[in-house]
Amino acid sequence: MRNDVGDWDKVVQVLQDARDVVIATHVNPDGDALGSALGASLGLRKLGVRTHPSWGKSPLTVPPNYTFLPGSDDFIQPEDLPDADVWLVVDCGAPDRLGELETRVAAAERVINVDHHTGNSEFGDLNVVVTSASSTAELVTSLLVDAGVEIDRDIATCLYTGIVTDTGRFQYTNTSPDVLRLAADLLAYGVPAAAIALEVFESSPFGYLKLLGRVLERAVLEQELGFVYSWMTLEDLTATDVAPDETEKVIDVVRSTRSAEVAALIKEQADGTFRVSLRSKGPTSVGAIARANGGGGHELAAGFTAESVDAATTAIISALERRAGR
Ligand code: 5GP
Ligand code: MN
Repeated sequence: MRNDVGDWDKVVQVLQDARDVVIATHVNPDGDALGSALGASLGLRKLGVRTHPSWGKSPLTVPPNYTFLPGSDDFIQPEDLPDADVWLVVDCGAPDRLGELETRVAAAERVINVDHHTGNSEFGDLNVVVTSASSTAELVTSLLVDAGVEIDRDIATCLYTGIVTDTGRFQYTNTSPDVLRLAADLLAYGVPAAAIALEVFESSPFGYLKLLGRVLERAVLEQELGFVYSWMTLEDLTATDVAPDETEKVIDVVRSTRSAEVAALIKEQADGTFRVSLRSKGPTSVGAIARANGGGGHELAAGFTAESVDAATTAIISALERRAGR
């Protein structure tokens, strides 16, 4: 495979020649972030590279739905990262998504930025940013193959997990014939696809049912704007005994509302701010709404941070009203 994009050939060369590579991904990592980081880590180790995967949140713990990933014990606390000759940043649309690692990356000698988010600021010394890619895992797969890594079952499991999560189990518009062929190629290494689906999509603590009950009960539908939203407080999490990193899929239930094109879930954070998850069925670009509010993401899945539930909904509603010409 060969991609005529960005610094592809240089990135392959640098990864082949590296001794120590820190692999960093975004805070609140999802399946693509974790799968890409671990796939790259296991792959580069086969070339004799010492790899140090992490993300910028201390103390770092792997979300329960992803502890099955091969190599998930290899993640190290951000403060324990060594000085490496290369920093490989995966699935990270903007430097501020690096959290506590933002300053380390800014000071690093050589930063490689591999990503597929629209609006990626190309913050690396070398950049492979392909917005048409289904997932960062897709890009990592091709880079590893070009670097001469022999893909094995563990690496394929990580990379397949990145693809299956970022395509919403091959449901979203980023699911092309090529993506399905790549997934099929990865499955051929013996990837346990059914077990992965169970771990990632169908496994929650009992309290999650109660949490869903609370959040769904207070959902609001702005019928004329085709906008549905709800919010989740820290009190909801304590009362139901659910960890914040188990709430990634709540938005998927909210957005199933038939008459809504745009959905939002607003989550209260420990620091008093509110993280807004946005989803669109198209054509509205929630990426544009997120960027206008200091966040980012993809056209149909994006996020930003707000001061309050009210501030978040006001910002979204006024953007949707402007779009509707009202
Ligand atoms: P989620 O709602 O699942 O947290 O995020 C949806 C998508 O938007 C993901 O691709 C995520 O990386 C991106 N995203 C979420 N919040 C932000 C943000 O504050 N800044 C940027 N640049 N991207 C974000
Ligand atoms: Mn991704």
